[in-house]
Amino acid sequence: MLRLTGISKSYTSGTFTQRALDGVSLDFRQNEFVTVLGPSGCGKTTLLNIIGGLDHYDEGDLVISGKSTKDFVDEDWDMYRNNSIGFIFQSHNLIPHLSVLQNVELGLALSGETASERKRRATELLTEVGLADHIHKRPNQLSGGQSQRVAIARALANNPDVVLADEPTGSLDSVTSVQILDLIKKIAEDKLVIMVTHNSELAYKYSSRIIKLKDGKVVDDSNPVVEAKELKQTFSLKKTAMTFKTAVVSSLNNIRTKLGRTLLTAFAGSIGIIGIALILSLSNGLDQEISAFEQETLAGYPISITDSRVDFEKMRQMDVEDMEAYPETQYATVYDENRLASFFLPNTITDDYVNYVTDYVANVDPEGISGLKLVKNVNMSLLRYNEELLTYVPIYTEDLESAPQSPASALGFVSKSFTLLPEGDVFDSNYDVIFGDYPTNNPAEQKFQVLLVVDEYNRIYKSTLENRLGFDTTTQTEFQFSDIVGKTFKLYVGEYELGVSDASTGLDIEISGIARIKQGSSVSLFYNGFGYDSGLIDYIEDNYPDEVGRVNSIYIYPVDFDQKEELKTYLDAYNDQFDPESTSRIEYVDQAATFTNMVKGVIDTISIVLIAFAAISLVVSSIMIAIITYISVLERIKEIGVLRALGARKKDVARVFNTENLLIGFGSGLVGVFISLLLLIPINLIIENLAEMPNVGKLSSLHAFFLVGVSIVLAFISGLVPARMASKKDPVVALRTE
Ligand code: ADP
Ligand code: MG
Repeated sequence: MLRLTGISKSYTSGTFTQRALDGVSLDFRQNEFVTVLGPSGCGKTTLLNIIGGLDHYDEGDLVISGKSTKDFVDEDWDMYRNNSIGFIFQSHNLIPHLSVLQNVELGLALSGETASERKRRATELLTEVGLADHIHKRPNQLSGGQSQRVAIARALANNPDVVLADEPTGSLDSVTSVQILDLIKKIAEDKLVIMVTHNSELAYKYSSRIIKLKDGKVVDDSNPVVEAKELKQTFSLKKTAMTFKTAVVSSLNNIRTKLGRTLLTAFAGSIGIIGIALILSLSNGLDQEISAFEQETLAGYPISITDSRVDFEKMRQMDVEDMEAYPETQYATVYDENRLASFFLPNTITDDYVNYVTDYVANVDPEGISGLKLVKNVNMSLLRYNEELLTYVPIYTEDLESAPQSPASALGFVSKSFTLLPEGDVFDSNYDVIFGDYPTNNPAEQKFQVLLVVDEYNRIYKSTLENRLGFDTTTQTEFQFSDIVGKTFKLYVGEYELGVSDASTGLDIEISGIARIKQGSSVSLFYNGFGYDSGLIDYIEDNYPDEVGRVNSIYIYPVDFDQKEELKTYLDAYNDQFDPESTSRIEYVDQAATFTNMVKGVIDTISIVLIAFAAISLVVSSIMIAIITYISVLERIKEIGVLRALGARKKDVARVFNTENLLIGFGSGLVGVFISLLLLIPINLIIENLAEMPNVGKLSSLHAFFLVGVSIVLAFISGLVPARMASKKDPVVALRTE
């Protein structure tokens, strides 16, 4: 059955070489009870390990049923251990996190038995060794004798031809030892049992053959095989492979016994996931919020084309280094707009262009545009009552919403200081009336009100202060709001000739209040001057059609963001007929875009920074999983040895750890998603309080699935190296580890 010819085995540690076996030649019968006796260190365990295929000989040959093992590869040894060999160890080596039943089933699982067959056979064996009532216990709930019985049942599970027992009674009391030896003797009735023991008394009583070893050599054999009359049996081995399910059960059990630590690992692993989940949810929600906002407010932020374009931003920043923004003061200061001329760019709207735009609205995309406003020049004068002359005198020639005659002159800008106020919500969300009231009109009595809009430094244009309001900016630097509000002047539509025209036919204009752009608002509809509401311009258009001239501004209101993009493409196409430098080109301003693009840009930047942080925490959690797997490998070295002794392939060992990491990754993902959902509740409340946007953070289920997937993949990858280390552990060393 088994034949050892000239087996030698040496171990080298450092410079010292220990010859553990030295030319051992032995024949074993198909069934007999062999005991190997000898002093400690003489090579008994080494002999069993070599016979069991756990360790490999240096010289000689191990012949199994007539077949040499010289050409065996790992896979063959794994199959041999699983099908033909049953190991019983001194310290029974049960896997602590598996139940008694599962321990016995393990070898069967490796050889691919079905679950029901495994259970049937394991229960049968456990009943045979007298443990029928204990099959669901854990190894640590058993006595030493009971544990050794489980180990025997496990060794017999695959119905091996050879059972190898290394000091099976070494840690048992004498009564229990006898019981165990009775069991082993029964096994030997139809199997080859090779047992190592110190107890020569029991050896002589139970075994049928005694072999004595000394210094790695056989010194005595009580019953050697004289004639090698063994049948040349055909030697075939059944492949072993651990199913995924077995690996999952083993991993789950291990996870369960170390629940606290596993949860901690899962939590550590989830931190990166939480970070990314929160970022995804928030940027998602904000994107949605922005496009909703965009659509809602497009009406307030039309595409505008005006006769002169001004670089407001550049202008606003002029001379403000030493000034405090949003002062609490109740006075205004001078803003000398004559210095602003350089910020003007010509953008003269032609009839051709007006036709081009009206054609779009009327024919190309009537559904996509909710409104079109063409603002025309109005010939008019502002009149202020002169106390000395006791009559109204013109203070300036004004155009409502008008174009400058010469775009490059500051004069043009001055006339720009009469601006249509944005309507409704757009005004409320972007401007504060910091003094006085919002205008009300009374067209029947030709009475209209306007707001005076100061910039965020409370500045008012010099010309407005001097010419329109009648202040002397050379002697006065602070202008009380209370002195400004309530001031009135007349607006005379048409050419006013002093002494000829009748001032009393002019419209009454009163300053009803002071408005200032809200802190944080990036809308730049206008910054300085008078703001009237549409009642005034409507009144003029209706009552003085002759004084209304050509179009100087166009406002187009697309219904949604997509339509706005289409419109912009259409308007861009107009300029294709001109050189890039041509002054015939007409540029539009997309106020909604400058606003939302800026916000989007900020959000993108923040997201990138946060994602970088989250990525770092992902790396950290991966490293932690790797470390924890590594610790787990160190802790379970014995288990690795047992698995290998039962015939597990290296792959199977790696699979146990990999499966565990997959489960941990899955757990981390779930924990991460769950914690993120919890965290989103307070985060959303905070955002709602700060920005009045309810439920911004939303984790889409797609993202949740994606994150769990990422977590699984990361945990798997980070555990690969430790799992591979585990699979490479030498089973002999693993089993010797205490
Ligand atoms: P026994 O089981 O008879 O006590 P062993 O077979 O365990 O003896 O060991 C035989 C000799 O080989 C001993 O001297 C032991 O120290 C040495 N030995 C066994 N395994 C190793 C190993 N992995 N590395 C180094 N020396 C070893
Ligand atoms: Mg030993």
